[in-house]
Amino acid sequence: MYNNYLMPTRIISGDGCINAFASELKPFGKTAMLVTGSASAKKNGSLDDVTAALTKNGQTYFVYDKVKSNPTVPCAYDGGEAAKRGGADFIVAIGGGSPMDAAKAMALLACRDIPESELFSGDYGNRALPIIAVPTTAGTGSEVTQYSILTNDKAETKTSIATPLIFPKIAFLDAKYIMGLPRDTMINTVADALSHAIEGMLSVRAGVFSDTLASSSAKTIISCCNDLEKGSLTKEQYSSLLYASTLAGMVIANTGTTVVHAMGYSLTYYKDISHGRANGLLLGRYLEYVRDKAPALCGKICTAADLKDEKELKTKLASLLGKPEQLTGAEISHYSAKAAVSKNMQNCLVPISQSEIETVYRDSMTL
Ligand code: NAP
Ligand code: FE
Repeated sequence: MYNNYLMPTRIISGDGCINAFASELKPFGKTAMLVTGSASAKKNGSLDDVTAALTKNGQTYFVYDKVKSNPTVPCAYDGGEAAKRGGADFIVAIGGGSPMDAAKAMALLACRDIPESELFSGDYGNRALPIIAVPTTAGTGSEVTQYSILTNDKAETKTSIATPLIFPKIAFLDAKYIMGLPRDTMINTVADALSHAIEGMLSVRAGVFSDTLASSSAKTIISCCNDLEKGSLTKEQYSSLLYASTLAGMVIANTGTTVVHAMGYSLTYYKDISHGRANGLLLGRYLEYVRDKAPALCGKICTAADLKDEKELKTKLASLLGKPEQLTGAEISHYSAKAAVSKNMQNCLVPISQSEIETVYRDSMTL
């Protein structure tokens, strides 16, 4: 039995860490493109902290703030062109998974002309602009992954670019940026992180290192669930949740995600359900499926996450996420067929058929 674990991202965390470690940005060049969403980075202090650090270093910057949630392929090309036009030497991605993922694709496209038909082909050459990541949600873990997940209208789903070239060089974790997150966004993004931790333990690529990180991540999130529901987290809890989501990112960087994410993509693409909520709505029922097929594995995961049993996970998620959106029979068949042929299926430690995927959708999202 071998273990093979890689994490090339330097992680710097703590209150005020961007200012304290500003000099870490110096080696990346003269000019940075700062990639953000439209508003939040300007309000939560993260953009100001990055611009102050760059100014202190004598580095120049320009801002690309046109990234919307679930970034699209055209957005990635637009940002890649902006990086070239502005002469960016490196990119600082500030925000949730959407700006971070968009920035990673832009970092590749700034260095190489990749036709749209080959964007998801896996052939990315040997260079991308260096990326620095500043997460402002506690969910995706994109600050420590080699994935850029884009809305792929041609395939009517979300598709990932995966290459070690886009592992961020540094992730700065400062919990003060996430403290103003609206309650729903906080819950949805934390459900994503929990899904990463649990799916990571259910991956054929799981190993002792990823399982240890996944266990710590899941335990931390579960222990915050009651307060999360009330929306009354302490500063320490915000820090813990940011830490837990980064740990879960370190997990999926090595294990990938499984059928839950594959199923969730259709909920986001066709029903506009946010990424984390989509996974959270399906995760509890999926773990029940695992219990039926592989009870010992399910028990191991519950123990690792400090859960009494899989029912407790389902109850906690239901209470956090509220009433699920409803799917029709035709939607369930369509989405199940798509999930059954997705790349993620190869990661599933417990295989699942198309008709069993239909059951998970139906039980999770019909009355
Ligand atoms: P998001 O789409 O980045 O952001 C959701 C919303 O939250 C946006 O309206 C954003 O506003 C706002 N927001 C962000 N930070 C905030 C803050 N500190 N305070 C107030 N509002 C804030 O959400 P996300 O769940 O973090 O990212 C989802 C994306 O990540 C999906 O595309 C998903 O596929 C991807 N993902 C990637 C990975 C990976 O490994 N690469 C893993 C899982 C998921 P602004 O637009 O104004 O910023
Ligand atoms: Fe995710």
